[in-house]
Amino acid sequence: MKTLQSLAQNMKGLNPQTMPIGQANLLIEQCVKALDPYASKESQRIKLEEAFGRTLAIDITSPIQVPAHNNSAMDGFAFRMPQTLKPGQTSMRFKMVGESFAGKPFLGPVAFDECIKIMTGAVLPPELDTVAPQEAVPLESFGQVQNTLSLGQSVEIELTRFTAGDNRRLAGEDIQQGSLVFEAGERLHAASMGLIASLGFSHVQVKPLLKVALFSTGDELQKPGETLKPGMIFDSNRYTLKGLLQGLGCEVIDLGVAADQPQALKQMLLQAARLADVIIASGGMSDGDADHTKDLMQEIGEVLFWKIAMRPGRPLALGRIGSSMLFGLPGNPVAVMVTFLSMVRPALLQMMGLKHDKAFAISTVNAICEEPIRKISGRTEFQRGKSRLSDTGQWSVRLSGNQGSGILSSMVQGDCLIVLEHERGDIRANESVTIWPLAHLI
Ligand code: AMP
Ligand code: MG
Repeated sequence: MKTLQSLAQNMKGLNPQTMPIGQANLLIEQCVKALDPYASKESQRIKLEEAFGRTLAIDITSPIQVPAHNNSAMDGFAFRMPQTLKPGQTSMRFKMVGESFAGKPFLGPVAFDECIKIMTGAVLPPELDTVAPQEAVPLESFGQVQNTLSLGQSVEIELTRFTAGDNRRLAGEDIQQGSLVFEAGERLHAASMGLIASLGFSHVQVKPLLKVALFSTGDELQKPGETLKPGMIFDSNRYTLKGLLQGLGCEVIDLGVAADQPQALKQMLLQAARLADVIIASGGMSDGDADHTKDLMQEIGEVLFWKIAMRPGRPLALGRIGSSMLFGLPGNPVAVMVTFLSMVRPALLQMMGLKHDKAFAISTVNAICEEPIRKISGRTEFQRGKSRLSDTGQWSVRLSGNQGSGILSSMVQGDCLIVLEHERGDIRANESVTIWPLAHLI
């Protein structure tokens, strides 16, 4: 059965000639779910120090309390707060019977009129509940000449300054033993790596890296480093896409350039399908080329060609070759990027099995548009913009130069994409628009 075609047929009101981005997202989501080329792969056990950016394959519950013991939040003197004070009593003398350092706990008993010297993080003996910080216990005021206290000497603690439990960290106050700390599908970042370490795990079970094979098509393309021949251009899309994929934590398999010939393309696609979970090609998807690409892809797999109601962008191919998903993107360098960000990126995140894509969700910002922008209703337009934050905390944005879909420098000069939604018409100056800050996306 041709999975993709039947899914597309089930979707009502679908027009492959002018498909809104939202509809394409929905259809891609269903296709990924139906094909799931990657979800069934076995998870891997890797060293914690290599787990940054990886997706957790299993839930993690805590085998221990964190912290493991009651301990002190300050350097000072640990004592037991008396239940009641005598009338008029505000302080009490405690004899110092020991010291507790981080990693070297005091193991002896402590009576009600005794205290120990304690350091931050050091174990608080079970009899004691309160820590008076060092600076709150002025040693010299009690007749000691030296300002360090030896064992057997006493300190006077001003009890009215404290409440039982002050400066005590309770065992398990961070994490209770047996509690669920991580759920499968979470992406591991710096804090999660530290937290896993604090549970005592040296290894983690993660999903395998999503393997993405990448190639460019076009007879005009040369590799950077070569001498440019007449009529040729350097292949830039492969490098842009590689960066975008690396940012998502994919394993990139760079297959180079395929010539505009059916045989070359076929060989490339078959090789990519053998090696990767996902294939991303750029170029050769527009009307002139699409026919032979289409025939060829139908022969070795299955493919749907859509024209997305967007600018820049438009052509998009979604396919399956063997058990690999295929995304065919336009050739124009800016079109490649916005097509990737708006349609391929969400699909890859879905495939990676990320439970919450909070690590990746595009954080949109509302900005005041400083100038009018011409916009045709019935397609989503992505303009490159330069954003500013005012003293009052309001973002504003203006266009950043030439907006042609081949002008890659606009993606470097600009710092955001201005996203003009499908239904919207012309934008007047001072209207509010949505922007995608690029800093965390590209
Ligand atoms: P195509 O979609 O193949 O018709 O390409 C559209 C435009 O994008 C043409 O001007 C191509 O030269 C250009 N183009 C296609 N692929 C690349 C690439 N990998 N790097 C830079 N430009 C490209
Ligand atoms: Mg081409």
